[in-house]
Amino acid sequence: MLKIKESGISLFAAFILSIFCLNISAQTPKKIRTIIVDAGHGGTDAGAHGEYEGTLGSLEKHITLAISNKLVAELKKQLPDTKIVPTRTTDIYQAPREKARIANDNRGDLFICIHADAVALKTGSRIIGYKTETYTTTKYIGKGKKKKKIVTPHTREVPIKQYFKIPTTRKGTSTLIFAANKTNDKIRAMQNSDLMIPDVDDSTLNINYDSPEWKANALLYTQNYFKKSYKLGSLIQDEITNMGRENLGVWQREKGIAVLQATQMPAVLIETGFIANPEDERYLNSEKGQQEIAEAIAKAIKKYKDQVENPKPATQLNETTSK
Ligand SMILES: [Zn+2]
Repeated sequence: MLKIKESGISLFAAFILSIFCLNISAQTPKKIRTIIVDAGHGGTDAGAHGEYEGTLGSLEKHITLAISNKLVAELKKQLPDTKIVPTRTTDIYQAPREKARIANDNRGDLFICIHADAVALKTGSRIIGYKTETYTTTKYIGKGKKKKKIVTPHTREVPIKQYFKIPTTRKGTSTLIFAANKTNDKIRAMQNSDLMIPDVDDSTLNINYDSPEWKANALLYTQNYFKKSYKLGSLIQDEITNMGRENLGVWQREKGIAVLQATQMPAVLIETGFIANPEDERYLNSEKGQQEIAEAIAKAIKKYKDQVENPKPATQLNETTSK
């Protein structure tokens, strides 16, 4: 969890924001120099696991690592001039904060988290046989001192049940970005971090994190990150459609994605597929599936990089998503 400090965004900040809005759009396009690829979970944090009947028993941490390693290789091949930094290349534990620190310390321009989806599964049951159960009935005859208790044993057949988890029918890929109304969290992350707003050399400045000016700038950057995260998410989902996988869209999530809020850069979390779906689980475990997903994501990142670095004059002031 992030350390929470009280920091409301004042109306004044919003006013400053409106002034700066035109400014930021008119800046020279930012180069994508460093891309961070995070294999979700790791080590003692296995993430989701296959638990339905007939599952391969896969652990999310292995799937995320396999896809991330392929994505890193693919990005290095397709973007030779860009620095690609994986948060982990082996099965080690990292707290979300540690993952975010690696991204921030490397001054990433993009943060790509690889995950696999899980859902709570329903339990089913089936009869696999019968067993004989004995039970007794009791009755009394006579009255007073002659009252007698008679216990009669009986037997009956009862079913033997087996319980199992039912796999989900949900499958496909979705991309999560931090919720727009959570920009405050992203700003707090910037306040809590040793780093400041990228491209601003603050080493000689004594920054007052509570000043309206700082907050306005931070808000400006986080809103810009939100727009860019959404843009990248849309491009990724387009490639998911192009590769023939089910496109579950781009979602804003408010909980459980601290890592997206703690990074000072556009960030997306890709739920590559459902471990709890037999077809998806097998696909995610296959070399072919992992490579196809890695290539689709790399293609989207390349398009994003091209669009950000070479904006068309018509879209420069008003960034739109790919569709
Ligand atoms: Zn996960």
